[in-house]
This record gives sequence, C-alpha cells and structure tokens, in this order.
Amino acid sequence: MRPQPGKTSKLILIAALITVLAASLAAVLIRFGSEHSQNPVLLTAAKGLNSYEISVDFDPTAGMLYCNQSIVYINRTDKDITHLYFHLYPNAYKYEDKAVFPQEDMHRAYPSGFSSGYLELEEVTVNGSGCPYTIGGYSENLLMLVLDDSLAPGESTVIGMKYRVKLPHCLGRFGYGDHTYKAANWYPIACVYDKNGWNLDRYYPIGDPFYSEAANYHVTIRAPGEYIIAATGDILSRREKDGIATWTIKALAVRDFAWVTSDRFKVLSRKVGKTMVHSYYFSSNGDKALDYGASAIEVFNDAFGEYPYKQFSIVEADFYIGGMEYPNLVMIDHSLYAQGALKWLELIIAHETAHQWWYGLVGNNQIRDAWLDEGLTEYSTVLYYGLRYGREKEDQMYREEIAMGKYRYIQELARSEPDIDQTIHKAAYEFPDWYVYDALVYGKGAVMFHGIRKRIGDEKFFEVLKKYHEKYRFTNADKDDLISLINSVTGRDWEEYFNKWLYDSN
Ligand SMILES: [Zn+2]
Repeated sequence: MRPQPGKTSKLILIAALITVLAASLAAVLIRFGSEHSQNPVLLTAAKGLNSYEISVDFDPTAGMLYCNQSIVYINRTDKDITHLYFHLYPNAYKYEDKAVFPQEDMHRAYPSGFSSGYLELEEVTVNGSGCPYTIGGYSENLLMLVLDDSLAPGESTVIGMKYRVKLPHCLGRFGYGDHTYKAANWYPIACVYDKNGWNLDRYYPIGDPFYSEAANYHVTIRAPGEYIIAATGDILSRREKDGIATWTIKALAVRDFAWVTSDRFKVLSRKVGKTMVHSYYFSSNGDKALDYGASAIEVFNDAFGEYPYKQFSIVEADFYIGGMEYPNLVMIDHSLYAQGALKWLELIIAHETAHQWWYGLVGNNQIRDAWLDEGLTEYSTVLYYGLRYGREKEDQMYREEIAMGKYRYIQELARSEPDIDQTIHKAAYEFPDWYVYDALVYGKGAVMFHGIRKRIGDEKFFEVLKKYHEKYRFTNADKDDLISLINSVTGRDWEEYFNKWLYDSN
C-alpha cells in the first residue's frame, strides 16, 4: 500500500465517462487467450500448495457475489492439525462502529454514508460431509472448523463452502464506487500456521493487515456481458451466452486472489520480458499508467530477478488511499490519473509494482513485520527512479520523499513529543495513527535500507536483493532470514545495525 501523498490537497477529479467499444473487449480476449501457458518456475512452485476453486455469480445491481468454494487444504506443518481457521475479511466491513478506516477518513471511505459489507456462510463441508463451524473474532471475521479426524503432516482434506458476499458502497479496498467493483480480501482464506502457531489477526485500520501463504486458484466468474474483469492470474477464457459472460481464471503460486470489474474499462497492454503488463482505466492517462508499470517491471526484473508471472495489471479504481497491491494486480486511486497528478501516479505505481516482489513473491507477516515489505518497497520505489532516470533523480526522490519527507515528519514530531515511540518493529495496531506508521515503517524503514546499501556498496546490496527474492519467493520470510542473508553475502554480522534501527525508540 502507499497512501496518497498530500492527503489534504484535493486533486482535480476527472469525470469523463468513457464507453467501452466492443472492439476493445475482443482485443483483450485475444491477448489473454494466447497468454495462459505457465512458466516452469510457477509449475514447480505450485506443487504441494493449497488449491482454491471458486465459482462466483456476480450481480452488480445488488452488489452481490454468490459463491461456491472448494479448498484442497494440505497440512504443511510438522504437527497434527485438529482445527482450521479462515479469515472472513468482508465482515470487517459489516459494522460502522468497527470499521477498518480511521475515524477522520470515514467520509472519504463512505462518501454517501456508511454502507455495510459482509460474508454470509450458508454451508461448510469437510470431505463432502457437513461440518460444524464457529464464526467469531472481532466483527465476526474468523471461521473455525473442528475436524472429525485430525490432519497429519502432509495429509490433505477438502473443505467446501457456500456463501454470499455483499459488497459495500465503499472507496476502500473492498466494495464499489461509481466506476468499479473491487473484490479484494473477499473470500474465506486460510489463516497461516507458522512457528508462532495460528495467526488470527483481525483487519486492523492501520497498515495492510494481511498474512497469507502462496496457493493455487481456479476461479470462474459469471458477470453481465458488458463487464470487463481485471484479475490475479491468467484469464483462460471468456464465453458469453444470453448476455452473461463466464470468465475462467487460473493462478499458480500466488498469496491472494483479487479482481476488479467495470463496464467502462479500456485496456492497453505491453509485453515486458515474459510478462504482459495491462493498464485498465476508465478516465485518461491509461497510457501513462502502462508506461510506469511496464518500466517498473523492466527495471525490477533486472535488479531483483525476473517476475515469473505472465500477467500484471494496473487498475484504475474507486479507491481513495493511493495504491494497493495484490498478486498480479494493483489498484490505483483514480484521482491520480488527472493530468496534474501524474508525478504521484508514477510514484504510486512504482511502489505497488515493487510490492510484486516484496509481498507478492517474498511474503511476510504484514501485521507484525510490516517494515520488511513496506520499508523495502518504499526504498525500492526510490531505486526505480535511479534505475530508470539516473542517480540524480534517485537522489532527488530520496531527499524529497524520505529524508525531507516521511523521515523528517517523525523527527519533527519527536521534537514536540520527545516521548514518542520511534520503534519500527512492532505490530501495526501498536502505532498511534497512520501518519506515524507511515513515517516509521516507510520512512525510517527506507533510511535503514539506504544505510545498509551505503555500508555494503551497490554490488553486494543488489546481490542481497536478488538472493532474498530467489531464496524466499513463494514463501514467507522474517527479520532473521533477511539479516542472515546479508551476513552471508557480506561476511559480516549486521544484527546490531538492524536492531538499532528497528528497536531504538528514538
Ligand atoms: Zn506499500
């Protein structure tokens, strides 16, 4: 995620509505139809991962998704499992007094007043038989199943779920606005069991409060024929009958599945390496968005190691918080497509594209180790300017955005509030607000990565990033994984350096 810069300055909104031509829809399908063969890296990575098969009927008038889901769940831990947990994130949008937005943002998230979104479970089965379940947690956002027979390490079971999802009228990650429907964090997704046990965190208002494992997806969406769908994965086919189009989508080794749809999307595409980059837009400057996204994939392919997925989509959305990353898809605030906002459009797209490596490929616990993806992504955004335009531009962006921007904010705040906790490494809900979170996790985090680069030099720094990607892609990494990798590349111990930056309270 990258909140929109200059939150208080109102950007000019472009209100031009553009009708999709039948020809552009046909063009989209031709491109997708020829792009579904998989990279061998993904085919290998996909083995042994959980698999989700989801069938969706989308009713835009009611803002509803009617879903059937089947998950082949594999016990990838070294312990017997007797319970399974799933996040029901849509329920975080159910109640106004438990909303996922800071109070001062509510009018921006809900311009027409609060609108409830939720997930209603109708049936759960385990290996075809009905299974008792409990829904609990804050805002009813956790599902717990008690298995009749415990699942031994390496064993798998098939969980069936039938449910309905109500999309709220909401300009956050999940919901719909005037132009787009955003299905993000919209289906029951397995909670992660790691060395700390089950991770059952709720959908906190600060940060990107998600943590998941790579999995495979086969998703079928039935939607009115005029809707174009941008999604995680590869669109294998679109068949239309009686005005309803059936979209079949497959994704291998991705840690989430998101889709955005509109009856106004236009699409531009450009191939970079093995990846077809798409820009879905409904206002103007879709070509600029494509250029920024394609260029970011190009420079990061060189700097971090090649992006293994066949598709990457930059999607203009009714979204008020800058940009938000999902695997193979990023949603971008549509106000940034205005002519006067292109500088921010580029910065946000570069940031969300860097997340395709630091979050998408190399995952981490985004609630407890947010700096690991967010700090590195913010610093990678600065790297994009250097790799694309040269050192002078990079230095300028580092100065403006980090040293004199986010990092300066926390330094100035500390002058008036000397007791303010400046620890970077803590859970998202321990930060007092988005501004301090932003300053520490993004700003101070980027300064920390800049410092390590200065100390070890560019050659070793980029070797670390490449190896970090290579070693941990399709899995989750933590602080110790990154530090021991830097230690092994440089032959020195950097734990003290990181501990000072991460844990010193000033
Ligand atoms: Zn981010």
